[in-house]
Amino acid sequence: GFDDERGDYRVILGDHIAYRYEVVDFLGKGSFGQVLRCIDYETGKLVALKIIRNKKRFHIQALVETNILQKIREWDPMDEACMLQYSDHFYFRDHLCVATELLGVNLYELIKSNGFKGLPIVVIKSITKQLLLCLSLLKQKNVIHCDLKPENILLCHPFKSQIKVIDFGSSCFEGESVYTYIQSRFYRSPEVILGMGYGTPIDMWSLGCILAEMYTGFPIFPGENEQEQLACIMEIFGPPDSSMLEKCSRRKVFFDSFGKPRPFVSSKGVSRRPFAKSLHQVLECKDISFLSFIADCLKWDPEERMTPFEAIQHDFITGNQDRRPNTAPARQKIVKSPPTYLESPPSRPLPNL
Ligand code: ATP
Ligand code: MG
Ligand code: MG
Repeated sequence: GFDDERGDYRVILGDHIAYRYEVVDFLGKGSFGQVLRCIDYETGKLVALKIIRNKKRFHIQALVETNILQKIREWDPMDEACMLQYSDHFYFRDHLCVATELLGVNLYELIKSNGFKGLPIVVIKSITKQLLLCLSLLKQKNVIHCDLKPENILLCHPFKSQIKVIDFGSSCFEGESVYTYIQSRFYRSPEVILGMGYGTPIDMWSLGCILAEMYTGFPIFPGENEQEQLACIMEIFGPPDSSMLEKCSRRKVFFDSFGKPRPFVSSKGVSRRPFAKSLHQVLECKDISFLSFIADCLKWDPEERMTPFEAIQHDFITGNQDRRPNTAPARQKIVKSPPTYLESPPSRPLPNL
């Protein structure tokens, strides 16, 4: 059961694994190995089984993930913090296998299924509240997720906006971070790009990026490399303070000795000027509390950035502003067509659930 080059386990549908799991379907395949939908004959339930490639790097990463998943089960025994529930891990023919609850499609697939038109604000709000439950607990336990992005947020059911955060393979404890090259580029925080040391605030940065993407359907900072990634951020928020830049080991890559951004043109010939666009222009959104929530997640300085605890108190989450008549300027009602997944039953079976 072993493919020499990649170290992948050769899966056959109907296979029995460790005398307990029967392979029903493929759910995902990546650099790490494969995720399979399986019947667990000990419980009679369907589970997701991640079979890790027989390669040292991926094995180590999967051990980190298994460790964090087990801790999450201790920290959140009632399964209230919207994180993937671990059930079992074992070795099968030299492959580490991790069994977890079975979930549905990821947020990227949801956004795509809606034709990249963006999700309705009520759905975004519901998903945000759940992400904040996860991020609050992680912060309380000093854990950084390190790879929050739409692909790592999964719907629990096809017709509800209930979600779970998955993929703790890059996670680490604050102060014990070993890697400098983390987070997926579009969701990568300035402190990681600039090399200034990082902590739980990097996940709040990713959250801000994800909220903008759920609203418009497209990544807010679609940098094709780190240079452009930073240029995308500056295009809206301008350059960072010199006091912050002083703490950045990689500042010379992006800024000259006067702290001026080095001129940069993307491969498509796009140049990006600092402060060229405003957040509300980019999002085409007039919902003040939503815009301010995103802006508070996307603060350059990690110390100024909103924490999960502060986020739970924000008007966008509490809805306070909506109940305060005539204090805010009249807002245009945002009408968006809901994604088919969340409204009407599908005409054909949905993938992954
Ligand atoms: P890579 O780093 O190559 O992206 P990964 O380590 O991030 O892989 P995961 O994110 O854990 O791997 O899983 C990859 C994909 O498999 C997910 O994006 C999701 O679509 C699917 N998947 C993972 N876990 C589950 C699950 N419990 N239920 C349903 N689908 C899942
Ligand atoms: Mg992933
Ligand atoms: Mg991963």
